[in-house]
Amino acid sequence: MEIIHVSAECYPVAKAGGLGDVVGALPKYQTQMGHDAKVVMPMYRTKFLYEHEWVIDFKGRTNLADWWFDFTIIKEKHNTLGFHLYLVDIHGLLDREKVYGYSDDTERFTAFQIAVANWLSHWQKKPDIVHCHDHHTGLIPFMMKYCYDYNSLATVPSVFTIHNAQYQGWMGWDKSIYIPRWDPWKRGLLEWAGSINPLASAVKSAWKVTTVSWSYLQELKYNSNGLEALFEYEKGKCVGILNGIDTDVWNPQTDTYIENHYAVETADDGKLANKKLLCEQHNLNIEKPLIIFIGRLVGEKAADVLPDAILSSMYTTKHGVNFLILGSGEPHVEWQLSQLINYNGFKGNYNTMIGYNEKLSHLMYAGADFLLMPSRVEPCGLNQMYAMQYGTVPMVRSTGGLIDTVVDMGDFEGWGIRFDHASVADITYSVNRAMDLYYNDKDHLHRMRQRMMKIDNSWQQAVKQYINVYESLK
Ligand code: ADP
Repeated sequence: MEIIHVSAECYPVAKAGGLGDVVGALPKYQTQMGHDAKVVMPMYRTKFLYEHEWVIDFKGRTNLADWWFDFTIIKEKHNTLGFHLYLVDIHGLLDREKVYGYSDDTERFTAFQIAVANWLSHWQKKPDIVHCHDHHTGLIPFMMKYCYDYNSLATVPSVFTIHNAQYQGWMGWDKSIYIPRWDPWKRGLLEWAGSINPLASAVKSAWKVTTVSWSYLQELKYNSNGLEALFEYEKGKCVGILNGIDTDVWNPQTDTYIENHYAVETADDGKLANKKLLCEQHNLNIEKPLIIFIGRLVGEKAADVLPDAILSSMYTTKHGVNFLILGSGEPHVEWQLSQLINYNGFKGNYNTMIGYNEKLSHLMYAGADFLLMPSRVEPCGLNQMYAMQYGTVPMVRSTGGLIDTVVDMGDFEGWGIRFDHASVADITYSVNRAMDLYYNDKDHLHRMRQRMMKIDNSWQQAVKQYINVYESLK
């Protein structure tokens, strides 16, 4: 099958979170299964762009309302990533350093989608599937069906995957002129609650909708930032497919970001060697258990609860604990977390790295004893799966994909710590459970590590499920 993935992120070209990881891996494994998978994304000014060779695939001219623009589709010459990679260059709009966060993001991603639809409409033989990811590509299923210029795409099946329904790409009706001439009778397919809502439009217009875990799919019907009724109504076309992890990148035996490699049998020693390095680099105490947090410092991840929860945990654990935080996000949370180091007894037991650091994140998964994820919303969550792959005990709130991937150590053959609320009390209680395990039951910890590292979180299952979804649309 010929599948074209449309996305704002794709690791290692550009990544801001889990979306990038998924779009960097799924097409690779689809290709390995004999399919012809392609990815098209915006051409940002990232390192990857300058370090690879490109050929021009297509040049076009189109418009965003009355602004006419030229665009170029370039293709990575050697298929380095294991699939065909195309970038859309729109001069002055997409060619920036960051993926998101500009005041004209609406214009940037709408123009990107228009360019992609324009390009696809020129293909002589159409792809079998157009697979769009998250709201930045959410207008495409509508445009393929109802924009007169893209008539030739109306019969091509579109699949839309929701990696995160919190962000929906809302825009006012004044911006409806951006969307190329469309059937006015279909206005309702663009709208939700008075504005144009690209995520809702994709749920209504795509042939099939998938979410990145089963539990998240259920959760969307009662917690989806205003779209609850829509998910209830459209449940017949929605499927939950749990993400895999890319074991070419995330494997403690071969990880190119870490120096001390280890396998299941050598995990205890291997992890200790990585912990030593991590503790030296970040002024932490190697003798104490190390709990890490990696992620965006936003409400969705319950990062605002972290400062108080860390304070409470530090002062209530009997034998002491270390924390290391890596992330960036809301300035007041960044500030609070950075300030904690000044508290009594925190120096040497606590550190914060504000920013994005891929290399450090790998060393942290490898060297830590526990990974904390108190997320309020977690569509799938990759961090806990990386942690498990590296023998690091996940401590997670029972929500979304975390429910589907972590079994509490108190349950039969469990390997993690689960709690119900993103609250100081629940986190502190969980930290105390973790300390009890670390200080008083090393054997159990060892068995849990062995167990979690043997779990198959690879993409094999998910790839088959996606192909089944595509096949059902033939
Ligand atoms: P989300 O996509 O909601 O941010 P996921 O758990 O699905 O969360 O994916 C997060 C991905 O981003 C993981 O690969 C994680 O290691 C990575 N990540 C998040 N923040 C950072 C950071 N500050 N530095 C390095 N990697 C990060």
